Order: sequence, then structure tokens, then C-alpha cells
Amino acid sequence: MPDGTLIRTIRDIPGLIAAGLVRAGEGAALEQVAARYAIALTPAVTALIDPSDPADPIAAQYVPHPDERITAPDEHPDPIADLALSPVKGIVHRYPDRVLLKPLLACPVYCRFCFRREQVGPDGGVLSETELAAALAYIAARPAIREVILTGGDPLMLSPRRLRGILAALEAIPHLESLRIHTRVPVAAPSLVTEALVAALATRKALWVAVHVNHARELAAAARAALARLVARGIPLLSQSVLLAGVNDSEAALEALCRALIAARVKPHYLHMLDFAPGTARFRVEVARARALHRSLRGRLPGHAIPTLILDIPGGHGKVPAGESHLARGPDGSWRARDPWGDDHAYPPDRLRAQDASSAPSRRGRG
Ligand SMILES: *Cc1c(COP(=O)(O)O)cnc(C)c1O
Ligand code: SF4
Repeated sequence: MPDGTLIRTIRDIPGLIAAGLVRAGEGAALEQVAARYAIALTPAVTALIDPSDPADPIAAQYVPHPDERITAPDEHPDPIADLALSPVKGIVHRYPDRVLLKPLLACPVYCRFCFRREQVGPDGGVLSETELAAALAYIAARPAIREVILTGGDPLMLSPRRLRGILAALEAIPHLESLRIHTRVPVAAPSLVTEALVAALATRKALWVAVHVNHARELAAAARAALARLVARGIPLLSQSVLLAGVNDSEAALEALCRALIAARVKPHYLHMLDFAPGTARFRVEVARARALHRSLRGRLPGHAIPTLILDIPGGHGKVPAGESHLARGPDGSWRARDPWGDDHAYPPDRLRAQDASSAPSRRGRG
């Protein structure tokens, strides 16, 4: 991406050592991590880190860790079965009424806990014109699809011209009622949210933007200004956060995050249970503790400032609230998650089960 913001992005272990974010003694172990998973810390993100704090909640999200070399038994390269639910390159279709469209797989930063970490990266690819046309044709041919969610990778990494082209093509599909963009750009590379970019987002369809934010400190002045540019165009903003040990797993951190989101005109929407992507065990928060943290927000925050604690059922079985309604202990004491179609699944997943063809994700969602 030919932008100064991204050119000065730290992308390797020597860069992290030079910035004082990694000790030289860890270099060899971390090179093994870097060989497998992309690294990127933009100047905006690096500026938020206190290098003297070994538990800095911003650094924890982006600085690689030697433990990423270890894949736990319940972890899976495609934890929510994007690949199994992809009928056409760039499309993920699980629910009848909405699809994901992934025009590219690059992000401004690479989060160490990313659920698509085996797919995303700077070389992860952009859909070719032919592939994009096939993806759009898939959507156009299915009137049951009412919403397209642009995700990736990060759609706001696209040039305004290319983004405009995709939105114009979606705008021309009559049965689409709304569009959504999932992005980390406003917090990770706020300078990319230019007037040209927000102008490219103007569309006759209702466009919603869901911003990935995990810590109040990520909503620094530049990020708030980028969000304000979107709000000024009349775009409603939702948040997506991941509940992460060592980042936001305290009552105070979650309360501060929700308050900062509301103050930035972002509706706190989803607080995700971490997906079982490889090498992410250090971020995991147990169900009981996640629920207690989530419960602590009730009464302390205005109702509209409280996100839903949400679980994407491993194996591609859909998103459900992580409360009693959809997640309960079975007779043997282990958790069972009930999917939107009424079927129960082991939680956490066990790897043998994930490899069993009989547990392939439900196709009931496909239109
Ligand atoms: C998360 C997701 C959606 C969107 O779900 P919402 O609850 O509407 O945010 C749609 N399709 C797929 C495949 C998803 O993973
Ligand atoms: S921004 Fe999203 S898709 Fe990109 S690395 Fe982070 S979690 Fe993954």
C-alpha cells in the first residue's frame, strides 16, 4: 500500500527489536513465529505502546510471542469453517440472509489472536477482477441474500477507487437491503480514512461499519477523528471486540472500553469469545469468567453501552450469545453450545470431532 502510514509499519523481528518491543534474546524463537504468521504494527499502533510495560495491552495484541509456535489440541487452522462454507472464492455463506465478501486478505496490522491468521497476510491476495465478478454473480443470483458484509483482511485497505467499484456493483443488486464493512483501519491506520475514502463509501444502500476495537486506549485522538469522519457522512458505527486475557479481561478495562466507544459514537455491539485459532491459548478467557466480567457491566453502564457476549460456535455452526440460553453444561460437566438451528456442539471443540466429516458445518444457511 503506497501510504506513508504503512511504509513505516514494523513488519519483522529486527524492526521490533530496534523499536524496543522485543528483547534480542527472543529473536530466534520469534523468527519461527514470523515464518508462519504475518507481523505488522503501524506507527499509530506503535505510538500507543508503553515499551517499559511488559504487560502493555496494546503490545500484547500485535507483538509476536514464542508460544505462538504451540498449537493446542482444541485449536484449528480454520476455527469457524470459513473454507468449508465458501461456495465461491471470496464468499462465505452460512446464513440464508447474509454473506461475507472478502475482497482482500491484507490488514493494516496483524493481531496475534486473529481467527483467520492462517489466511491473512500482506501476500494473502486480492480477488482478481474475474474472481470478484464471480463472487458478485453469486450474490446477484440469490434473492434470499439481503446483506453483504465486506471483510477480509480489511476492506478499508482498498483504494477509494476500488472500494467505490465494489460498492457500486453491490448497489446495483436490487435485493440487497444493507451493506456492512468490518474494519480495524480507523484505529490501526486512521490516516487511511481520508475524505476520498469516506466519499467512496457514499451509497444508496444502508451502509453500516463495524470497527474492531479491544481497548479504550486504541481510541486515541487520531482514531476518534477517523471515526468522526465516518459519522459525519451519516454512517452508523458498531463495535466488534474480542475478550482477551492480558488485554481487556478486567471489569475496569471493559467498562473503559465501552465508555470510550459510546463517547466516539460507536455502539458496543459484540464482545467475542476468542476463536480457537492456532497458537492463541495465552489469550483465552474461560466461559465462567467471561460471563462474570460481562455481567459486571450491567448496572455500571447505560444499557446501550453493553455489548452482547458472543460465541462463534467452532466448526462453523453460527454465532450465539455465550449466556445460559445457548451455552450450558452437559451431563458430564462439559460445555455444549446450541446453534441457531437447535443442534448442540461440544465447546471447546475437540480436534478429533473437528476432523470427523459428520460434524461438517450445517448447510441449512445456504440459500
Ligand atoms: C459472523 C458472520 C456473519 C455475521 O453475523 P452477524 O451476527 O450478523 O454479525 C455472517 N456470516 C458469517 C459466515 C459469519 O462468520
Ligand atoms: S484486523 Fe481482523 S482480520 Fe486482520 S489480523 Fe486483526 S483480527 Fe485478523
